[in-house]
Amino acid sequence: MPGTAALTLVALHATAALVGFGFGPVAPMGAAPPASEEPTPPAGEAPASPAPAGPSVRGFLPIRFVETSEPAVAITFDACATRTHLAGFDRNVFDVVKREGVPITIFVSGRWVEAHADVMTELAGDPLVEFGDHSYDHPHMSRLPVARIVEEIDQTEAALARYGKHSVAFRPPFGEWSHRLVYVVQDLRLPTVTWDVVSGDPSARTTTDGMIRNVLGKARPGSIIIFHINGRGWKTAEALPAILRGLRERGFRFVPLSALIASGRGTPMLTQAPPPAHAVVVAPIPIAPGPDTPAPVAPIPTAALPPPLPPAGHAPP
Ligand SMILES: [Zn+2]
Repeated sequence: MPGTAALTLVALHATAALVGFGFGPVAPMGAAPPASEEPTPPAGEAPASPAPAGPSVRGFLPIRFVETSEPAVAITFDACATRTHLAGFDRNVFDVVKREGVPITIFVSGRWVEAHADVMTELAGDPLVEFGDHSYDHPHMSRLPVARIVEEIDQTEAALARYGKHSVAFRPPFGEWSHRLVYVVQDLRLPTVTWDVVSGDPSARTTTDGMIRNVLGKARPGSIIIFHINGRGWKTAEALPAILRGLRERGFRFVPLSALIASGRGTPMLTQAPPPAHAVVVAPIPIAPGPDTPAPVAPIPTAALPPPLPPAGHAPP
């Protein structure tokens, strides 16, 4: 990943390209909402009326899992923070990761990076840790104009660069994406990644047993599993040892998200979606379905999930 300066240059290209396409303000996706970190939008914050994305960005989709025959999964954490809620660092979770020697990918908000200098120094020096970009302020990214999207990502890359790091992927706050957002981010040379296995850890009602059962029941080769490491995971540290042990017993090994993506083909959320209709952006990860593309992943049955999050949901405390 290039440094911030390079990102900014690419960003200008992204802006120009999108202006050229004449996209208006955001189109929250018609696609099924992601297995949400925050399923209930606060009252009065209903998404803007869905406007169809232009056909030329419709093929740009987030990676939910990676198509691979290897029994490998990626353990990922979000470290969210906003202007007013800088959140914390779950030392107990990281202790488990260290003890088990599991490579992890932490999606950081730029504000979280800036608020946790000592922790960042420690994480940046740990070979088990790689970073992802989780925006700067944790906004609803798909509602932002292109220039703001670029700014959110660029600011976080700048914060990471102070530790000699850069992101391997982008994860939108709340798991909320649009084709346009994925397009812009891909033009910044970052794949947009969500998840296919949700631990449900930011919900106070998630039980340790429920988390273990849910993750072990859902994981499959190429899974991307989401937890939180900013103190928002209520039972994460309790459940993680059994989850890691259970996955190992089922033959899974743990790989950094970047390696998982590199090992296979990023599989988009909607495998029936057409490939991009133009070739403006060089896609680092092919997203068109192929002959061996597995059937689309069924949405996670609500009944199998922990109870829905409270409205405060995923937002940092
Ligand atoms: Zn978040």
